[in-house]
Amino acid sequence: MQQGFLFDKMAPGEEFEEKKEYGSLKTLDDLYHATKECKNCRLGDLRNNYVFGEGDPKSKVVVVGEAPGADEDAQGRPFVGRSGQLLEKILLAIKFRRQDVFICNILKCRPPGNREPQQDERDSCLPILLRQIELINPKIMLLLGRVAANVLLDNKQSMSAMRGKVIKWKNIDVFVTYHPAALLRNPNWKRLCWEDVQLLRKHYDEYYAAD
Ligand code: SF4
Repeated sequence: MQQGFLFDKMAPGEEFEEKKEYGSLKTLDDLYHATKECKNCRLGDLRNNYVFGEGDPKSKVVVVGEAPGADEDAQGRPFVGRSGQLLEKILLAIKFRRQDVFICNILKCRPPGNREPQQDERDSCLPILLRQIELINPKIMLLLGRVAANVLLDNKQSMSAMRGKVIKWKNIDVFVTYHPAALLRNPNWKRLCWEDVQLLRKHYDEYYAAD
């Protein structure tokens, strides 16, 4: 067992449970077209744009945030505001360009006032993300912020309990760090984020760069 791994979800090799809502959709494009008019929760009536996610559909690295903000809702693209600029800098610091990874969020529509996603919204939207992950089939995921990590990992742990290590989840190596919006509010956390993404890059180079 590699040091630092937590096999707290599925054993390696176990497969995703097929979501019957989207399991028949075989490409990201199909999934996008099947969900872009989604009204499965109240946010569907409030959005200006559906924010599916973007990037390399075959990337080994998927980056997941919490939900679109105002800029993302206006443009229909993930991480395009100040948080997005900081995310691009963070990725470049570990030698990934934005287009090298796939970037998306737990929720595809903006919660009003950027409030935290409510439980029924998380439950309604999560199947879309799970199918995205199945179709991309990444080796590594970077979860940005406690909320994104709690939803995807289905736990209630604090940021300090989740960051700084590799978490094995559904045969994917998951890293958790601060959301860029939190780093803009608390620059003191940038050093910890730097440590987290350095760990991710080291792990990628060690296990997956040569694939
Ligand atoms: S947030 Fe997700 S579940 Fe809710 S309407 Fe938007 S796409 Fe559908």
